[in-house]
Amino acid sequence: MKVLVVGGGAREHAICDAVYRSKDAELYSVMHNLNPGIKNLSKDHLIEKETNVPQVVAYAKEKEIDLVIVGPEAPLEAGLVNELGKNGIKACSPTKEAARIETDKEWMRNLLKKYNIPGQLKCESFTDANKAKKFIDSLNGEIAIKPIGLTGGKGVKVSGDHFKGVDEALDYVKEVIGKKIGGQSKVLIEEKAIGEEFTLQAFSDSQSILPLQAVQDHKRLLPGDKGTNTGGMGSYSCADGLLPFLTKSEYEEGAAILQKIVESLRREGCPYIGPIYGQFMLTSDGPKIIEINARFGDPEAMNVLPLLEADFIELCQDMLEGNLSSKKMQLQKKSTLCKYVVPEGYGVKSMVGEKIVVDEKSIHDTGSKLFYASVNKENDYISTTGSRSLAVVGIADTLADAETICEEALRHVKGDHIFIRHDIGSPELIERRMQHMNKIRGTA
Ligand code: AMP
Repeated sequence: MKVLVVGGGAREHAICDAVYRSKDAELYSVMHNLNPGIKNLSKDHLIEKETNVPQVVAYAKEKEIDLVIVGPEAPLEAGLVNELGKNGIKACSPTKEAARIETDKEWMRNLLKKYNIPGQLKCESFTDANKAKKFIDSLNGEIAIKPIGLTGGKGVKVSGDHFKGVDEALDYVKEVIGKKIGGQSKVLIEEKAIGEEFTLQAFSDSQSILPLQAVQDHKRLLPGDKGTNTGGMGSYSCADGLLPFLTKSEYEEGAAILQKIVESLRREGCPYIGPIYGQFMLTSDGPKIIEINARFGDPEAMNVLPLLEADFIELCQDMLEGNLSSKKMQLQKKSTLCKYVVPEGYGVKSMVGEKIVVDEKSIHDTGSKLFYASVNKENDYISTTGSRSLAVVGIADTLADAETICEEALRHVKGDHIFIRHDIGSPELIERRMQHMNKIRGTA
């Protein structure tokens, strides 16, 4: 079977790795950058913007691709899956309509309201900042301000973290509306949820889901959760599928929410096929929905895909054929720890074109996985671009061992201008997270 993976980041490298392990798949890829890891696994690749739908479809037709998997959100919004479908090519990713669950935050919130899905937050959208003021006041300024459309994970601002008080909130509300950040002269304002965040990814066949293990991402740039929001600096998961602060019943509440969302999408006439991603805040009142994505998370894909024991392409076929309800998730019971290597200055002003030397064999020998992201390949080394460079994932029975292995592997990545959040998954940070959650539950 010929499989085309669209996208050139570390998430897509992890998808390609899962496809490559599949017993009768032949891998092809389309990416805007030359990801050396993806290139090595692919029989053939095309360097092209992933949102250039006609070119991607033409390539899929030329190579007689049987199945396409789309990594990032932008080509979903551009209607890539719809166009592939018109050309008789199957994709294990959602259509443009189903992907609105991610690409239109107002539509997503309205869907939750319409189908009375648990885990909702108070929210309203506005085109006029003056009208927004009353709502912001009613929440005492404890809010998250969100552009409606895609901003690459960087348009959301939260009170206390990114601004203080009603006046600063209104400044950003005006900016989002005035500058059409996220594509519309509109802003979504949500009640601020307080707690610990977790990610729950699942496979969906449009009727049933198969949930994967919970993961915790770290969006803030600097150790101790300081600094600007990024695409994600690293993430961890535990062998029992839960997180140190997340109980089984809370995990199941999250999975039930995803199941209900998939059912409501079907009832809306846009059946959802592919991986679905729920970002939740675990509050004193249970998990609340922060956002839903129409794809795997990056970095979270790297925590789950290496542990898949089932054949990934068979799973994709089950999703397309509506067979998930009869399946059980087969995952290795291991803990994972993923840390990104990014260019110095990332999140503010990245140092571009800086050399990174990666000793792939030594990394492999530690038992870690290496996933390349946005780099350029020079002769015997790679160089940084403006985005994240590569990720290393330690895998072991315990989180502490996964952390040790990941750090060991990172010693084989050398560069004068790289940055890593070494505190991710450290015992101190995990302890702080648990104490935070205990305080919120009132059990500290
Ligand atoms: P998003 O792009 O929606 O994932 O938002 C980025 C980050 O902002 C999330 O990972 C959260 O840390 C934070 N965030 C978003 N919405 C809320 C909310 N309603 N309450 C608290 N934090 C939020």
